[in-house]
Amino acid sequence: MSERVPALDALTDALQRLPGVGPKSARRMVYHLLERDREGARALAGTLDNALERIRHCRRCNNLTENELCAICASEQRDQSFLCVVETPSDIPAVEQAASFNGTYYVLMGRLSPLDGIGPEDLPFDGLDQRIAEGVTEVVVATNATVEGEATAHYIQDRLQPKGVRVTRLAHGVPLGGELEFVDGSTLDQALQRRYSLEE
Ligand code: ZN
Repeated sequence: MSERVPALDALTDALQRLPGVGPKSARRMVYHLLERDREGARALAGTLDNALERIRHCRRCNNLTENELCAICASEQRDQSFLCVVETPSDIPAVEQAASFNGTYYVLMGRLSPLDGIGPEDLPFDGLDQRIAEGVTEVVVATNATVEGEATAHYIQDRLQPKGVRVTRLAHGVPLGGELEFVDGSTLDQALQRRYSLEE
């Protein structure tokens, strides 16, 4: 039997936390870093540490930033009355690829999912209300085109409509069951242009 190397096992386990990384590819990464690129491994550890230290959520929209406000919230070029609601910070670069959007964002940090026990009280809807109170006139709901994403969109419609806000949804173009961050820019641009109203 080969010698057990606890630190090696721990590193393999740690890498498996990454999405899409199974035991086999985790092991391959570990051997690559330890055998062929110790310098790269050290740089990776340092960069990761630094990122964890510096990056936090924007006070206004929950996007990732190193500052109190993210660059989009802080920009005077962006339309503060037009708000795009997304599920996660990683959806923002996807929408940003669509050159037509010049509004600002609000990140829900998840989606409603009764099956997983995630209800409205588990998501920061109070922050969304706050944004509306600051003068938002249109909200485009860009949650994923999944069952949960649709349910979340309808909840937002019901919540915001009494406040006199126009609530729209991304139109066709985003594949059903698809996740926003994997959609190409031109498809998303189409979907944004053809957004539709959630009112019946
Ligand atoms: Zn922000």
